[in-house]
Amino acid sequence: MFTTIKSFDQIYIDNTKKTLIICDIDDTILTLDVPYDKINNFIKSDIERQLIDKNNKQEIYRRYKEYKTYYKLINRHSYKHTDKTGFQNMEKKIHPESRICFLTARSVKYHVKTIEDLNIIGLEGKKYNINYTENIVTKGEFIKNFMSDEVEEYEDIIFIDDNHNFISSVIAHVPKIRCYKFTIDDYMN
Ligand SMILES: [Mg+2]
Repeated sequence: MFTTIKSFDQIYIDNTKKTLIICDIDDTILTLDVPYDKINNFIKSDIERQLIDKNNKQEIYRRYKEYKTYYKLINRHSYKHTDKTGFQNMEKKIHPESRICFLTARSVKYHVKTIEDLNIIGLEGKKYNINYTENIVTKGEFIKNFMSDEVEEYEDIIFIDDNHNFISSVIAHVPKIRCYKFTIDDYMN
């Protein structure tokens, strides 16, 4: 079971409980600041050229992600926060002994860059504990194997990610964690 959200404001916080929030980075807390109109135009012409079904949202979203990467490479666009207000509200709402940490599939060799990326979106990157799965294990396996002390220590644990497979792995390995799927759907706006 997980809940789909578009803002961190939609996460249920019980501020009487010492809470650990485990948050993904890419496409959950930050996303590329790219010209969506240009990408959308690309997709539109692609649909016309290749007769892609306009209603096939999965395929369109896959292409959107491809184009985002493409734009990142050629234009070197930087990052923006997905929901700064919602995230700040969540930080204010939680019990004082609570903690927010990040869990990313990035490689630990990008630790310095990851802190810089968080700084770009207005967070104090070095304030947060950042965990790296390096795509060697799933996030569920990582939490179960490497974060078991924290899982015991906190009364409530929240996991937020945009990736369905990672959420499924957390549900399978650490069922006591409340999971949220963060979605950015401005690609069709
Ligand atoms: Mg992600």
